[in-house]
Amino acid sequence: MRTPELLGMMDRYSARNYHPLPVVIERASGIWAWDPEGNRYLDFLSCYSAMNHGHCHPALVAALEKQARLVAVTSRAFHNAELGPFLKELCELTGHEMALPMNTGAEAVETAIKAARAWGYRERGVPDGQAEIIACTDNFHGRTVTIVSFSSEPAYRDGFGPFTPGFRLIPYGDAEALARAIGPHTVAFLVEPIQGESGVRVPPEGFLRRAREICSARGVLLVADEIQTGLGRTGRLLCCDHEGIKPDLVVLGKALGGGLLPISAVVGSAAVLGVFRPGEHGSTFGGNPLACAVARRALQVLVEERLAQRAAERGAQLMAGLRALHSPHVKEVRGRGLLVGVELVPQAGGARRFCESLMSEGLLCKETHQDVVRFAPPLVIGPEDIDWALERVRRVLAS
Ligand SMILES: *Cc1c(COP(=O)(O)O)cnc(C)c1O
Repeated sequence: MRTPELLGMMDRYSARNYHPLPVVIERASGIWAWDPEGNRYLDFLSCYSAMNHGHCHPALVAALEKQARLVAVTSRAFHNAELGPFLKELCELTGHEMALPMNTGAEAVETAIKAARAWGYRERGVPDGQAEIIACTDNFHGRTVTIVSFSSEPAYRDGFGPFTPGFRLIPYGDAEALARAIGPHTVAFLVEPIQGESGVRVPPEGFLRRAREICSARGVLLVADEIQTGLGRTGRLLCCDHEGIKPDLVVLGKALGGGLLPISAVVGSAAVLGVFRPGEHGSTFGGNPLACAVARRALQVLVEERLAQRAAERGAQLMAGLRALHSPHVKEVRGRGLLVGVELVPQAGGARRFCESLMSEGLLCKETHQDVVRFAPPLVIGPEDIDWALERVRRVLAS
């Protein structure tokens, strides 16, 4: 089928919960994607960081095929031969003691919320039903009712109440506001090391370090949502590594599935994740051997191919190149590693228009909110490909 027919089907049958660019991806390999007409595009968004390894990485496809022929899904009523090794390798790589596998990012965030609350009641003696979790304004942690309950973005919330109580917001990046907001029943502070969805907002230097100190001093768990920033994206394995801090819980997803399938996990201390008792939490597909086999290989590839270091190098090249364009349309270029936001001035007419022009030039990216374009190519991108992309960005900004 050709692009117009496929777009027509979406128009007719799809719920309108997305507003995609009018491009259909029929196949992809590494950093490149093709539409049904054979036009080639550079994927400069990577499925919001799910595609850190690039599309259809051969080693990961091989792991998927091998495991699919062996056994793909088992009941959690039994053990499977991939889950134990996966959890061990994930814990060893991240330096944590225990892990709990789920499927999507939102499920893993929900898992971290449940763990923090149960820990508060059982280990800290918070009165039942009173646990409070602090999050940040402009956060993005997923789309479940509980998670949008503490969103500050009307588009994520309006029409979906009533909401889950027990959350409180502080301004992102303001550690002293965190210190002031902590009360006797506060069990956790949930934070993105960089806010990707809200426009690649990088907090002030030292924010996470200070938050770690405050949480430790006050007996509050630090929970880092590294679903988008983790697994090499920002130039380190985890974005928290830039500030040398270790959260009590880290939420991972997206790239954990190597760009092939959904798998997420919460990793952390045994003191916190150990609170779950049999029957209290779970997921039919969580920890299935197919996803675990792919995730194990994805973690190996991350190390073997030095993806974090390459993200640091290519990210520096990309940000320097963007800044050197000196475009009057650009207000700010910011980010870390290969998570880069270009904020346009209000007079530029919005980021959407700019993304549509880049699409015509063969570069796929997407606006986030009104005025920010997020650039987040697969971490396997080469220096010459960054130059190729910069040339397209230069052309579009000049026109
Ligand atoms: C994508 C994302 C999520 C939600 O993950 P899903 O797999 O879409 O449920 C949560 N937190 C952050 C920071 C994300 O980028």
